[in-house]
Amino acid sequence: MYINGEWVEAVSKNTRDIISPFDQEIVAITAEGDERDSKQAIEAARKAFDQGEWPVTPANERGEVVYRIAHLIRKYKEELAKLETLDTGKTLEESRADMNDIANVFLYFAGIADKDGGSIISSPLPDSESKVVKEPVGVCGQISPWNYPLLQASWKIAPALAAGNTIVVKPSEITPLTTVKIFELMEQAGVPKGVVNLVLGPGYNVGSELSKNTDVDLISFTGGIKTGKKIMQAASTNVKKIALELGGKNPNIVFADADFETAVDQAMNAVFFHAGQVCSAGARLLVEESIHDSFVDELVKRAKNIKLGNGFDEDTQSGPLISAEHRAKVEEYVETGKQEGAELILGGKRPDQEELQNGFFYLPTIFTHCRSDMKIVQEEVFGPVLTIEKFSTKEEAVERANSTIYGLAGAVWSTDIGKAEWAASKLRMGTVWINDFHPYFAQAPWGGYKQSGLGRELGHAGLEEYQETKHIFRNRNPEPIHWFE
Ligand code: NAD
Repeated sequence: MYINGEWVEAVSKNTRDIISPFDQEIVAITAEGDERDSKQAIEAARKAFDQGEWPVTPANERGEVVYRIAHLIRKYKEELAKLETLDTGKTLEESRADMNDIANVFLYFAGIADKDGGSIISSPLPDSESKVVKEPVGVCGQISPWNYPLLQASWKIAPALAAGNTIVVKPSEITPLTTVKIFELMEQAGVPKGVVNLVLGPGYNVGSELSKNTDVDLISFTGGIKTGKKIMQAASTNVKKIALELGGKNPNIVFADADFETAVDQAMNAVFFHAGQVCSAGARLLVEESIHDSFVDELVKRAKNIKLGNGFDEDTQSGPLISAEHRAKVEEYVETGKQEGAELILGGKRPDQEELQNGFFYLPTIFTHCRSDMKIVQEEVFGPVLTIEKFSTKEEAVERANSTIYGLAGAVWSTDIGKAEWAASKLRMGTVWINDFHPYFAQAPWGGYKQSGLGRELGHAGLEEYQETKHIFRNRNPEPIHWFE
């Protein structure tokens, strides 16, 4: 762990074996903290915020440090990508793409750190000046998940630093490796002592301490809804600011007039990329009646050929699921889908290949004849499982698409732009793609409607999450007002 500028063991001296989901080999041993380690890290971050230089360092200088981190990420891209593949099982190509995105996130926030110094208000009072300034929030706890370990952490670390906060980061206990590495890089980039702190270990103690500790001013969390709700409750101890990026059950709506080839190709990518362990996975396909059967046939033909394997092999297209527990959860959902009457037309089991037996693999799985009220359609499976529904009007498509508790992202495929824009305006989601799926970038805000979350990451809004807004009013000619005379 990295606390107050030092690399430290856990107070308890406990450690954790980190295993590869591809073959269950131990790939690293990390410190395993508890509440005591979180408390030490919070104390260091508190001191660095209250007494240190970072919050009052000119924004352009903070931007320069963030810029140096971006360049170090580019320099160590290959090492970081290999660590991510080792830890998550995703393909090396995916990990490299993640590292490019991560460097871009740091570059973006480095660039906007000094671009908005606040504003002047037209004061309604004579002889006065009214201005609005932005200030850092304080000590920020940042908790990230296992599916995009460093990417999700970077969406929090980069804006928090650019805005002048001090932070305590807790990655998922099962995928901490790239987050550990980026702390080495932040040290090299010259981030002052105590400004960035890293704690490792489980959510129930290390993470929950961050959410309830009254010395933490903001908690930013990416993960599942259940955990998000616990964090929200714990954050009430001192009415912390909260940012929550929770799950999704993202509809992918294909109208009959869509470009068939592109829509099929991208529907595959939408759901099966990273074995479906993507918060914005297009796990819920809605296809217009007239093309439904041919669309399904084509999807099955292609999904059958997805090559599962070792993320380090060039020809692997998809890696394993993250853990045995997670695969068991996916299997349970598939059983539920069958019991609910959905028709399983592909997969629904583990692969047979000998070389995949030590990993947590699961075959690409497709259900048809799905109804909107089925559990498998309503809940986030977070695996390579696609549900397909048929619709006949645009109103029906939108109504079904909006019928879950989630509102993270969705897509609309149509060559009729008027219709596509109409559907985009009706979808209650933080991101809507028209004739595409999955693009996100540092410049645009990301976050959920409904129970998919609170607040936004990335874009200018992502910086504002880490800023307080202060109004300063100055009377240039103060005089008694004689109110009580
Ligand atoms: P999770 O909720 O189990 O864990 C996420 C993090 O929270 C981990 O670091 C974990 O240790 C920690 N945690 C667990 N219990 C805690 C507690 N009581 N207090 C504080 N911290 C606690 O989620 P996961 O299984 O790691 O990740 C998968 C989930 O993340 C999915 O639901 C997915 O949709 C979501 N996700 C959302 C986005 C987004 O941008 N909206 C992005 C990626 C993942």
